[in-house]
Amino acid sequence: MSITNVTQTSCRFCGNPLRHTFVDLGMSPLAESWLKPSQLHRMEPFYPLHVYVCERCFLVQLEEFESPDHIFSDYAYFSSYSETWLQHARTYVEMAVERFGLNRESQVIEIASNDGYLLRNFVAKGIRVLGIEPAANIATVAVEKGVPTLVKFFGEQTACQLVSEGTQADLVLGNNVLAHVPELNDFVRGLKILLKPQGTITMEFPHLMQLMARNEFDTIYHEHFSYLSFTTVEAVFAAHGLALYDVEELPTHGGSLRIYACHTEDSWKPISQRARDLKSREKAAGFTRLDTYLSFPEKVKETKRKLLDFLIRAKREGKAVAAYGAPGKAVTLLNYCGVRSDFIEYTVDVSPYKQGLFMPGIHIPIFHPDKIKETKPDYVVILPWNLKDEIMRQMAHIGEWGAEFVVPIPEVTLYSPSLSEKIAAQA
Ligand SMILES: [Zn+2]
Repeated sequence: MSITNVTQTSCRFCGNPLRHTFVDLGMSPLAESWLKPSQLHRMEPFYPLHVYVCERCFLVQLEEFESPDHIFSDYAYFSSYSETWLQHARTYVEMAVERFGLNRESQVIEIASNDGYLLRNFVAKGIRVLGIEPAANIATVAVEKGVPTLVKFFGEQTACQLVSEGTQADLVLGNNVLAHVPELNDFVRGLKILLKPQGTITMEFPHLMQLMARNEFDTIYHEHFSYLSFTTVEAVFAAHGLALYDVEELPTHGGSLRIYACHTEDSWKPISQRARDLKSREKAAGFTRLDTYLSFPEKVKETKRKLLDFLIRAKREGKAVAAYGAPGKAVTLLNYCGVRSDFIEYTVDVSPYKQGLFMPGIHIPIFHPDKIKETKPDYVVILPWNLKDEIMRQMAHIGEWGAEFVVPIPEVTLYSPSLSEKIAAQA
């Protein structure tokens, strides 16, 4: 059991001092701070990626660090979502309209609505929507696409302002925002205020139980403040007068939860069996005991050793190694493992915004995906492992020159393209 020095940091939910390390990934640059060639010779800011677990409420959280102003409001805008994710949004909207009986009288509000890719599915059905999005450039794109969007951070103040203007929601949704809010209590207080008496909140976030079981430590990055179990989220919502009445386990982002919340006073929504089951599964898996969390660091260190073992062996054999994708999680993984272009010569990304830039910290260059066909590497490391099936289908042609895919998480695994063709045939 490792106990770190007492710090000044306290739990962002319950205020208890944070004394126990969940995992310490050292100093790392911000995940989305891609570098232009002219920036390669300048000093780069690195911030600690030290994650604590609160011994009182078991909220796993990044310690507070001196964060630059642009961390939330200046996202680079990437217009190309994966087809998998767009389909996920469409399926959600179909489900929500039916399950909550939404119609032209209903109001749907999405927090961190991005360019409106999800809300536009509600708009197409004639349902009133409002997006709330802090990044002005992205909100502008949403408005141009016919999705009304308020440029704001969400919290108690924004919720009160909307209610005073007569706006309350039948459905409040947020995908991958709950884990990213620094002021967790203020955010959930805002949800309580914004929700109509019989309304529902749905939130999706990566599930801590999956992060630990599948060793997805590379999903730890500076913008991702909280790592959430169902049990802890239930406690946070309960503290603000909201009850979790249902939950779904989703495959997205390496294993996510979609929680369904209502007002504690709303007696029309009984707690579902699957919500009760998940809570007992988390309890059985040890999520209400500190030692469960403290066992994680050794697993992370072993993953680093295995990745380096593979790369050292490949390079000693004279193999060429390239990568596919430049997601934020790769910045965490490769910086933590100290993998630079001496191991992975380059990566490629479909986003034209990233092509020609370099990954922060490790300075691996990012090219157009055609680069792989041109250089014919022996191995292609798939960095967005959550999209590995989709990527292996798209890149099956690397089999023509005998190359193999490498997926680094949960541990280094090789896939031959012929196998991925089999995966494609089954899909
Ligand atoms: Zn706490």
